[in-house]
Amino acid sequence: MSFCIIMNLGIVKAVFHKELPLAKFTTVTISKNADGRYYASILFNQEDEPVVAINQAIGVDLGLKNFAITSDGSKYDLPKKRLAKLENNRKRKQKKLAKKTDKTSNKRRKAKRLVAKISSKIARVREDFLHKLSRSIAYENQVICVEDLAVKNMLRNPNLAKAISDQGWGMFLTMLKYKAERFGHTYQEINRFFPSSQLCSATLLPIPMLQNGYDSLGVRFVECPHCLHQHDRDINAAVNIKNEGLRLLVLGTKGSAVLGSPQIERLPCTSALGGDVRPKTSGRKKSTPVRGNPQ
Ligand SMILES: [Zn+2]
Repeated sequence: MSFCIIMNLGIVKAVFHKELPLAKFTTVTISKNADGRYYASILFNQEDEPVVAINQAIGVDLGLKNFAITSDGSKYDLPKKRLAKLENNRKRKQKKLAKKTDKTSNKRRKAKRLVAKISSKIARVREDFLHKLSRSIAYENQVICVEDLAVKNMLRNPNLAKAISDQGWGMFLTMLKYKAERFGHTYQEINRFFPSSQLCSATLLPIPMLQNGYDSLGVRFVECPHCLHQHDRDINAAVNIKNEGLRLLVLGTKGSAVLGSPQIERLPCTSALGGDVRPKTSGRKKSTPVRGNPQ
């Protein structure tokens, strides 16, 4: 057991989750969770050093079957079993709480605290996964390409809504962005109208089966009529996201004056090939200001 000396409070028992850096800290924020535990966040004054990435670039596709799929072929998942166990536990405790109708009773207060405690545990397990995955992706790659979340919202329907909110995509992307920036890497979002899930990643030609297939989430592999390969649907999308992200990044470094001008339409690569799957009112102009920091 370690201790922490806090002004006005004196010596407090504390658990440290990681070794503290040898640096001056500026503030300590103490907060109390609904489960009754106290947390101290310590802010250190420390310069972040740019990290030399192992890989040049990666594309990340967020999915329902797997949480994240990367262009190098890896698939990542939330600890589903563990979360399901915790969820069941929470349900049980919520039922117990519902039975206690006397709002002033001590038993009800206790039951309420148990529900809060397990909810907080669930949130922490989830966040822990998101933090670790976003850190390793942000750390290892110079350029991280992801899809605008609006694309995912197109998928939204009542059945998927719970799955989507459970996935924590928004939180994940926020983490990925600030971590990438911290390591001196580039976070690149791609255009929401780019049909990453419909093109063959080798030829950039639209695959008819995927073009009408938003609802057929069950299909994982697709035979490509262009390159005659079997594409893993998710990895294929991640590769497309990476290529499109890199393409946007190259455009971005040419200066904003060029952005949105007709010349871009004639640049090689996607627009000629993917032409008929891309909506005429391409949102490219909107998305071209590069958010990262191309060097
Ligand atoms: Zn193909």
